[in-house]
Amino acid sequence: MARTPVHRHATMAITERDQQLFMTAALDESRRALPACRPNPPVGCVIVRDGLIVARGFTGEPGQPHAEAAALLALGGGFDPMPLTMFVTLEPCAFDGRTPSCARGIVAAGIRTVYVGTIDPDPRNSGAGIEIMQAVGIEVRVGVLENQVLEFLSPYLLRPSQRVT
Ligand SMILES: [Zn+2]
Repeated sequence: MARTPVHRHATMAITERDQQLFMTAALDESRRALPACRPNPPVGCVIVRDGLIVARGFTGEPGQPHAEAAALLALGGGFDPMPLTMFVTLEPCAFDGRTPSCARGIVAAGIRTVYVGTIDPDPRNSGAGIEIMQAVGIEVRVGVLENQVLEFLSPYLLRPSQRVT
């Protein structure tokens, strides 16, 4: 007799299809960042809890919060025991510019899992943002819908030195 599968909520993984749906939502946020975010890349982000999007954000004008920080602000404070997952189109920034490092903000917020569309070629980042998150045990997956993300983001990633973060 076949055993009934047991679904344990705490360990329920996000399916490949749902990963793509959530990254598509993050990509929609990315598009909203234009044109105000220039010369910074138009990044978008959603935060997911228990299979639902609970916050969205996109990069604002230079000096305003990046997508990740905007989504965390939209999420608000308060005690919430449910694990949070973030989907962001570009690797969170490792460095402090006019705004604080998004990778460190994600660590401080207690996000458990982060899905990234593509690595940021900016030499100040270029994997350093991923390392900051992994160093504290955050589960990071890079490359969700990478082709679609790059199709949109590539033109804005060409000259990182012009960014004013
Ligand atoms: Zn950032």
